Amino acid sequence: MRYLIISDIHSNLEALEAVLKDAEGRYEAVLCLGDIVGYGPSPNECIERVRGLSSLSCVAGNHDWAAISKIGIEDFNPDARAATIWTQKTLTTASSAYLHSLPEKIVLEEKITIAHGSPRYPIWEYILSTLTALENFRHFETPWCLVGHSHVPVIFAFRESKPNFCDAFIPPENEPFFLDPDFRFIINPGSVGQPRDGDPRASYALLDSEKGVVELRRVAYPVEKTQAMMEKVGLPPRLIARLSFGW
Ligand code: ZN
Repeated sequence: MRYLIISDIHSNLEALEAVLKDAEGRYEAVLCLGDIVGYGPSPNECIERVRGLSSLSCVAGNHDWAAISKIGIEDFNPDARAATIWTQKTLTTASSAYLHSLPEKIVLEEKITIAHGSPRYPIWEYILSTLTALENFRHFETPWCLVGHSHVPVIFAFRESKPNFCDAFIPPENEPFFLDPDFRFIINPGSVGQPRDGDPRASYALLDSEKGVVELRRVAYPVEKTQAMMEKVGLPPRLIARLSFGW
């Protein structure tokens, strides 16, 4: 199966459309790793667009849960909190119901586990280091696990013959990377709607589960358009500015 992998859209419809256009014809099913909403100006539009994608599997993220008050926002920074409160007020009943329906984890084809943050603590945990990645390899059974949450594209590799070691790397963008069957992998496609690796372009991935090949991709989108909409609805200036730089 050829999958499109999208994560952390964060109510950024322009970025989502750019990704869908770039990936057109290259996938049969879609994996969405959560945080459809939060930060950006188009929560309902993004939910509708994602829901309408064929053969979709989607898990919940911390911002999705915060937007429907399934978790509190005490731990969010002030900007994220303000954006969450705006999102809560803006979501339609149908959008809220959809976010409520999202599971925390999904396993596909006995090959792929998907979760927002980590397989161990799906909603909250960030996998930012090889140490955390190493621990998480014990928390899923499949060869591959796909996570988002950090907004930084990365691949972690692990093999049973070296159980105390885990490698982290970022393969060159827009190039197929072969997933060696001797290893298990945790793959983060980066963020569609709010990249944080110093590159403002939308980030996503393509995965061919038969061939065992993943491709991390970047695509430019009209950042100013998203920013103008954010300004119009009164979202925090810092959240508007960061999209220009990808931090
Ligand atoms: Zn996020």
